Amino acid sequence: MFVGHYAAALALKGKEKNTSLGWLFIAVQFVDILFFPFALSGIESMEFVTGFTETNDFKMEFPFTHSLLGSVIWAVLFGGIFYLMGNKKGSDSKKVAIVLGLGVLSHWFADLFVHTPDLPLIYEEPKFGFGLWESKLATFLLEVVLLAAALWYYLRRTTSKTRSGRYAVIGLVIFLVLVNYLNYYVLPANNDLMALTISALLSFLVLAGLAFWVDGKRV
Ligand SMILES: [Zn+2]
Repeated sequence: MFVGHYAAALALKGKEKNTSLGWLFIAVQFVDILFFPFALSGIESMEFVTGFTETNDFKMEFPFTHSLLGSVIWAVLFGGIFYLMGNKKGSDSKKVAIVLGLGVLSHWFADLFVHTPDLPLIYEEPKFGFGLWESKLATFLLEVVLLAAALWYYLRRTTSKTRSGRYAVIGLVIFLVLVNYLNYYVLPANNDLMALTISALLSFLVLAGLAFWVDGKRV
């Protein structure tokens, strides 16, 4: 799952408005941000097996970034560092840290729907995954539905400072769906680990940048 993860970011922002949407965009992809360099350096692995699922060719071993235990540890670290670095202490920054941690943890549960059974609980077997990637259309639609529901909740829970504040976030979600469509249906499969790493990390960065910008337009 790629853009579907951002549904969790929008929903968590709706829940706890003091959290930065930009940092939430980073949180929900945090274990993937780690996974690509881990795979490149051989700590984890990513093989390309043609036709592995209808959606992509990714066969992955990732016990450190994509086990449930690993996700909990990364979530605690991410939230914890944010809490320690926050300048205004108190219940507010504690809440924000918890919400960011939940963002990190949400990644595993969103991946659970689409991955083939490759997500460990602890390290090795048992591994889980409901395998929605076997259907590209179902995967695409799930991500659209998740984003639409999260957008609706986010718009209800936050108010726009300006007219453009309303359209900016709607535009961002439409852009995410468009990126996903291009990814699944138009662009050729990117089966080179280095190229995939660069394009994934760049996408994470650009989308987080857009989220920081959109966030500034709403209260
Ligand atoms: Zn992932």
